[in-house]
Amino acid sequence: MQGRTDYRMAKRALVREVTHGVVPREDVCDAHPELLRAARSVGAIVERGCPICALADERAAVPADATPSMRLVTYVFGDDLRRSEGKIVWSEAELAELAGRYRSLQAYTVECCLVCGWNHLMESYPVGQADVG
Ligand SMILES: [Zn+2]
Repeated sequence: MQGRTDYRMAKRALVREVTHGVVPREDVCDAHPELLRAARSVGAIVERGCPICALADERAAVPADATPSMRLVTYVFGDDLRRSEGKIVWSEAELAELAGRYRSLQAYTVECCLVCGWNHLMESYPVGQADVG
């Protein structure tokens, strides 16, 4: 899809840096309370595990927790929104409504771990009227 950016490479690089102690764990497990709240209540469950929890389990030599702790949350940014920070999208219906109302918005999907607060951008893509047709 046009305008879609994938951030999985950046995620792998960051996880590697945490693994090697270059980046402190606190720096990557800093999910904003509102993001955590959204992740808990409306986040889409993803089957993949949290890389930081996996690292902690490995170091403590305990088996990985099988309960999926990762959620996907979507934010939108755009000049039309008249706010500097992203707006959390609380439902598919809200995203459709925003896309219909604004000319140009950029959606960002963030993964967030409910256990440790790890959060990382996964992908971004345009939504809004300017992107239709
Ligand atoms: Zn985690």
